[in-house]
Amino acid sequence: MDQHKKSVETARQTLIQLAKSRIAPTPDNYRKVYNAIDGQAATDNSLTIGQLLSNVLKEVGAQQPRHSPGINHILKQLEAQNWTGLEITLRELLANLSMPGNKHPAPSNPGGAHHELADVVTLWRNMLVKTLDLVVIPQLQEVPDAQARATALLEEARQAQSHEEILALETALKNILFSLEMHLDTQSQLQLRLLQLLRLLVVSMEALVLEEQWLQGPTAAVREILTQPLNMDSLSKAEDTLKDLIFMQGQLRPGLIEAKKTLKKMAEIFVAQLAEITLATDDYQTKLKHYREEISHSDEIEDLNQVLSRLLEDTQIVSSITQHSRNEIIEAENKVREAEKQIYELTLQLDHINEIAHEDYLTGTLNRRGMDEALVREFNRADRFGMPLSIAMMDIDHFKQINDNLGHATGDQALAHLASVIKESLRTTDVIARYGGEEFIILLPGTVEQDAISVITRAQRELTRNIFLHNDSHILITFSAGVAERRESEPADAIIGRTDQALYRAKNSGRNRVVGASTLDQPAGQ
Ligand code: GH3
Ligand code: MG
Ligand code: MG
Repeated sequence: MDQHKKSVETARQTLIQLAKSRIAPTPDNYRKVYNAIDGQAATDNSLTIGQLLSNVLKEVGAQQPRHSPGINHILKQLEAQNWTGLEITLRELLANLSMPGNKHPAPSNPGGAHHELADVVTLWRNMLVKTLDLVVIPQLQEVPDAQARATALLEEARQAQSHEEILALETALKNILFSLEMHLDTQSQLQLRLLQLLRLLVVSMEALVLEEQWLQGPTAAVREILTQPLNMDSLSKAEDTLKDLIFMQGQLRPGLIEAKKTLKKMAEIFVAQLAEITLATDDYQTKLKHYREEISHSDEIEDLNQVLSRLLEDTQIVSSITQHSRNEIIEAENKVREAEKQIYELTLQLDHINEIAHEDYLTGTLNRRGMDEALVREFNRADRFGMPLSIAMMDIDHFKQINDNLGHATGDQALAHLASVIKESLRTTDVIARYGGEEFIILLPGTVEQDAISVITRAQRELTRNIFLHNDSHILITFSAGVAERRESEPADAIIGRTDQALYRAKNSGRNRVVGASTLDQPAGQ
């Protein structure tokens, strides 16, 4: 009863208060003023809310200790029921929680699961950032294009906030790791080649101890190759030069040793004949004995020649008797010199031989052997990384006419021109090989069919831009090409067969065009 009266009175006082203070009589304002007048009821409600709030805040304080001071402050305001102070400190805490500098933005739902997810994302992001920054980017120093991509990815990774954003980086990361592997693979192949080369050098040195001066030609060639920046091409050249040299030495050395033996024998006979000359003085006899010893000890042609020329000078007085022997010696000596000269010239020629193991002499592209090796290498790599790989086969259009009209030699020049223009337009990781007479195969690692078609089409454009010049007249050369992307585990002959079919379609549908093997099951012209 009392309670009811009190309520009515409170309501009345509330309305009076609202009118006096010119506060708009909205339900909210009414409740506020009512509660202020009816102190008991308001206190009860706020106690319940206050308890709830302090429980939650204590929990947050335990999870995030760096917010404890702010939280303790609020708890004190709650205890003192200082609502204005409470509002201010609460606002401060909320602002603090959502500051951008904070690793964990204020969660929309303050449950543990969300926190854990955010932590995992941060962990992954930090690991990715560190791996890119400290491992991947420094390794890509010599591959600027991949390094630029890795640097861009690093920036994106730093910005990434969510699980989805981190996952979106995967493709770019895979591509960069692929480039890195290609690069490291080239490096390790370079090292292998270098070791092989050193081994050959040692073998070559051993074979050459007898004929030191031979060493100079080939070693100079190898030395020069090794002073250039190392690449697979120069190493392969040096290796083949040495291989061929060793082979030639094996062929020629028996002849040279034979010539040397003859020379030595001649010299011995000569000295023996001299010794028999009775009118020779004692002094001369002593000298002869000395010469004989020197000859028997000299293994090198240079030494032998020196001994002999001194001997010849000393024997001027008996020239009439010795003329015959002297001629024979000179003849033998000439034979040796000839053999030496021949070997030296061979070594020089070997330096200029372009027909080295993996390269096609005319076009400087890989030959069939080089292509077979490249196919195995690139197929393995593509399998390991699950990366695409495309192959293009190209054939010059109406090449017979070029030969017929301008001659075979000009045809050869045209071929070399075409190969160099195409090589220029390819990426360093693409591989070009001469497949047959005027047919080439191009391997495009990490490339899907459509992109490979663009690369080959670009090469066609380059060829019309860099037109072949013959006797001041421009000769337009075009080619047709078939392109196929490798299917899973597809063997080389199968994919090459598909590029061949696509090439056939390109020829039949008018030439100077590129056809993708994926369109083969559609009728021509579509
Ligand atoms: P298309 O391919 O457009 O059908 O006509 P094509 O005239 O090019 O015909 P095809 O490919 O059958 O003929 C290739 C010709 O290329 C035949 C051969 O004389 C010439 N050829 C092949 N290898 C060489 C080479 O090394 N040097 C020169 N000069 N010609 C070559
Ligand atoms: Mg052909
Ligand atoms: Mg042709």
